[in-house]
Amino acid sequence: MLRPPFALVSDLHANLEATKAVMADIDRCGIRSIACLGDIVGYGPDPGPVIDIVRRRCHVAVVGNHDWAARHGELQFLFNVVARAAIDYTRDVLEPKPHASTRALARWRYLKQLPTVVVEESLSFVHGSLRKPLMEYCFGDRHALWDPAQLDALFPRVLWICFAGHTHFPAVIRDNQTCWYPTDSESACELTRGEKYIINAGSVGQPRDGDPRACYAVFEGDAVRYRRVAYDVECTRRKILAMPALADRLGDRLLRGR
Ligand code: ZN
Repeated sequence: MLRPPFALVSDLHANLEATKAVMADIDRCGIRSIACLGDIVGYGPDPGPVIDIVRRRCHVAVVGNHDWAARHGELQFLFNVVARAAIDYTRDVLEPKPHASTRALARWRYLKQLPTVVVEESLSFVHGSLRKPLMEYCFGDRHALWDPAQLDALFPRVLWICFAGHTHFPAVIRDNQTCWYPTDSESACELTRGEKYIINAGSVGQPRDGDPRACYAVFEGDAVRYRRVAYDVECTRRKILAMPALADRLGDRLLRGR
């Protein structure tokens, strides 16, 4: 059972440098428990080592659409050719070959057993949404895909807080249809028992909100605090550019956080 304070990491996307930087920051903050909201792999160059870190460090973890595509070889949850090519690469790296090492087998087994939803008392953990755990994007009101009717359908499934990822945009969405956004490292949003929340942890490995620093959140029981962590983006980018199976723009976008 997770007890606050605990960290929420999502959409690590095989970005080892970002993942290591976030884990170091979590340690610096003295946080001992971590929940992972999926998309451990996909897009990035280091699926194996990032799985190792999640397996070792996270007390709760759910499957994301990229993880699902990688473990089943089913690409119906991915929309574009760049994502699909990255999954081919990821499977190539991860799928155990004959005489695979114990570590390779452990990584694969870990990816295969990730559940779609975890519920602990009034908290739920999912990649997309409680209605469609792998696929549904739930955006805040700053986004073109903001959809009040969608929230009316989702909030009855939320007990108190649903922690999610998938959009790569950090946001706190309240059941009264108002939203709150972190403005910088250390931004915190207060939470009350009377309201329900969908809390998006943002993305560790491929932020898209214009801030290239890795993003994660800390649930403190009565507040959620966001942290931004600088990491060696250029190193990750160079690895992607050196990998023919990974499109160059997957590296370039990391520089802009878009
Ligand atoms: Zn993702």
